[in-house]
Parts: sequence; structure tokens; C-alpha cells
Amino acid sequence: MDLSLTADHQAFRDELRAWLADNLDRTWADALRDPGNGEHELIELRRDWQRKLYAAGYLGMSFPREWGGRNATQVEEVILAEELSRVDAPMYLNSLGLGLCAPALIHHGTEEQRRRFIPAMLNADEIWCQGFSEPGAGSDLASLRTRAELDGDSFVLNGQKCWTTFGPWADWIFVLARTDKDDRYGGISFILVDLKSDGVDVRPLKQITGESEFGEVFFENVRVPRDNLVGEVGEGWRIAMTVLGYERGATTMATAARLGNALRSLVATCKELGLEDTATRRRLGKLIIDWQVLYSNGYRTLAGLDAGEAPGPESSVEKLFWSEFDQRLQTAAQELLGPGAQLERFDSNARPDVDWPRDFLWSRAETIFSGSSEIQRNIIAKRVLGLPQG
Ligand SMILES: Cc1cc2nc3c(=O)[nH]c(=O)nc-3n(C[C@H](O)[C@H](O)[C@H](O)COP(=O)(O)OP(=O)(O)OC[C@H]3O[C@@H](n4cnc5c(N)ncnc54)[C@H](O)[C@@H]3O)c2cc1C
Repeated sequence: MDLSLTADHQAFRDELRAWLADNLDRTWADALRDPGNGEHELIELRRDWQRKLYAAGYLGMSFPREWGGRNATQVEEVILAEELSRVDAPMYLNSLGLGLCAPALIHHGTEEQRRRFIPAMLNADEIWCQGFSEPGAGSDLASLRTRAELDGDSFVLNGQKCWTTFGPWADWIFVLARTDKDDRYGGISFILVDLKSDGVDVRPLKQITGESEFGEVFFENVRVPRDNLVGEVGEGWRIAMTVLGYERGATTMATAARLGNALRSLVATCKELGLEDTATRRRLGKLIIDWQVLYSNGYRTLAGLDAGEAPGPESSVEKLFWSEFDQRLQTAAQELLGPGAQLERFDSNARPDVDWPRDFLWSRAETIFSGSSEIQRNIIAKRVLGLPQG
């Protein structure tokens, strides 16, 4: 594993830094603290930012050129993620479309599907959400019961999805649906559904953070063209596993950069407050070591991706580690900074570079989504370590 940047990579980073200095109008922290910005305004700000990134060639960079990318390496993707995090840029809007659905289409879709959907994802013209989980089918995803029955040239969908991130904002959803009730894994298909279709009902859910970023999606006799099937009928499980590998592993470096910023802010605030006793220093030191572990693990995945490997079950190690690390970090911030870490984002006394109350509440979700910690441990035990069934 070579951790040094080549001359080309350094040149790319310098070019990117110069572009960011000229083009980033406002940091994400500034936008969050502007009382004029409700949920809708923040979404539109992210859409505009995504379009700027795309126009400049900094989005979907590792996609093949014909799908709007520039054949960039994973190392360049990581440099991009780190630099965006360093300047606290807003997160681009279509993260589920580009992070999950586009890789599924590139690996398993038809030429026509790629041409139809990927450019619109890149330009944030169509926002996507992920319809995997259902009531009764979260960890045990293969128990899903949403049905897709072929009727002529269409599938007819009936069922319910839940915890659908961006459901209330999205235009399209990629759905896992049951096409054969007797075949647990081989009876699942991967289908692209227009959320404006007749019979779709999206209901927002209010989260503990106060946002309604996710929701439930109901399908009642929704007709979906057969052409919106990705791969073959019954191939959905295999496609979903590719997608989940990307969700769990390929984004670790970006997450590490984000959490590194929060950790730096915590250390700086402790110094400003004169919190330099042994117990505090030990706690911060442990967090810094944990962060280094997270970063090194991210590099390991990166080295594999750069060598052309698809993310495998090892990505569970990263998902488990970063989600639990963030909870330790957020808990430390609350305990060390006390009431200062509870100031709401619009409060003029709140720190400008972090949103501790929101981030603490959000971190509770991180050990649940993309597979809970227990499920990650099961995967590591069985598929990485090969331990016998208990
Ligand atoms: C913020 C957020 C956003 C999400 N966004 C999306 C999205 O966009 N699209 C989507 O499809 N889904 C999404 N999800 C759903 C998420 O994938 C599920 O919540 C997750 O898979 C867990 O499923 P569940 O909630 O049904 O819990 P359950 O599976 O019912 O689990 C309940 C508890 O039992 C434990 N458990 C379950 N099975 C086992 C086992 N075999 N061994 C040990 N322990 C076990 C779990 O770890 C957990 O603690 C999101 C969830 C959250 C919190």
C-alpha cells in the first residue's frame, strides 16, 4: 500500500484547490446557520453546488467517460472528497443516485438505461432514493414482500418501503421487489420506479434532528415499464450486494475527512476552554488514535479499489468502525463541552465550524443504516474471518 501522492495526483489536488478557492461561495456551516435557510433552501443549495461540481468535471469522476465521468482513479476521488471536506463544502445532492444506483447501472444495467439515467443523476435533474428496507425487512432484507408481477410489458408493484432517505425530495426510486415468492434470494428483482407514477404515495417522517429527510413509500398497483428492470428477473439480490458494498466501503475516506474536521474542532475547543487535565487529554488522544485507525482502513480499501477490486465484505469493518467511532466522538463532545455543545445552529454563541447537537442526534442513526453494527459483526465473523456458526 503506497500512501504517497504521485506528481499527477499532487497536480490534480493543486488544480482542485485553486478551483475551490474561486468557486465555493459559502461553506456548509454558514448555510446551516443562516435562519433564511429551511429544508427546501438547503436542498436547492446542494443541487446548485452539485451542478457546479459537475460542470467543472468534479462529479462522478471515476465513471467511464461515456457516462459523464472522466475515467479518474479512486485516488483522485478520495483527494476530491478530502478537499471538499477540508473547505467544508456542502454535500452534493444526489448522493444515493450517484453512490449506489449509478454503480448498479454501470455494472448491471443496459446501455439505454445508463444513457437515460446517469447524466440526469449527475446534473441533479433527477434525484434518487433507495427502496430496499420494509417493515419486517431491514436487517433481514431478503424477507421483503413488495411484489412486482409481470403483466404484458409492465411490472405491477404493490407494497411498502420505509426509512427511505430523500423519499420526500426524490424523483426516482430504485426498488428491490419480489418477483417469485418461493425463491428467497433468487426471487428478488431490481427495478427503477418513477415516483410520479400513479399509485405511489410518499409520506415524510419527522426525525429526531427535526428534519424530514426520509419517509415511507407506498405502492398500490403501480405500473412500471419492463425496461426499467436492471439485470435479469431474479438478479436483484446479487445487484443489491454490489450496491451495498459501495455503500459500506467506498465512502470511508470521505467520512474520515468529515469526522477528522469534527475531531479537530473538539480538540481546539478543549484547548480554548483550558480543558487540559489528564483525563481529557487521554480521551482526546484515544479518539485521535481511533481516527488514525479509521483512516488507515480507508486506505486499505482504496488500495484495493485502485487495483480494480470491487468492495467486498471487508467493507463491513469500516462501516462498523466509523459509525461507532462517531458515536464516541459525539458523546465526548457532549460530555466535555457541556451546555456549549447543545447550542442550536442559529445561536450566535454556537461554534461556527460544527453543529454538535444535530451531529450527536444524527450519529445515533449511523449504527443502524447501511446495516446495523450487529449485522456488520455477523458479516465480519462469517465472511471475513470464516468463524464457525455459534
Ligand atoms: C437514518 C436512516 C436512513 C435510512 N435510509 C434508508 C434508505 O434510504 N433506504 C433503505 O432501503 N433503508 C434505509 N434505512 C433502513 C436501514 O437499512 C434499516 O433500518 C436497517 O437495515 C435495520 O433494519 P430495521 O430498522 O428493520 O431493524 P431490525 O432489522 O428489525 O433490527 C432491530 C435490532 O435487531 C438487531 N438484529 C437484527 N437481526 C439480527 C441478527 N441476525 N443478529 C444480531 N442482531 C440482529 C439489529 O442489529 C437491531 O439492533 C435507513 C435507516 C436509517 C436509520
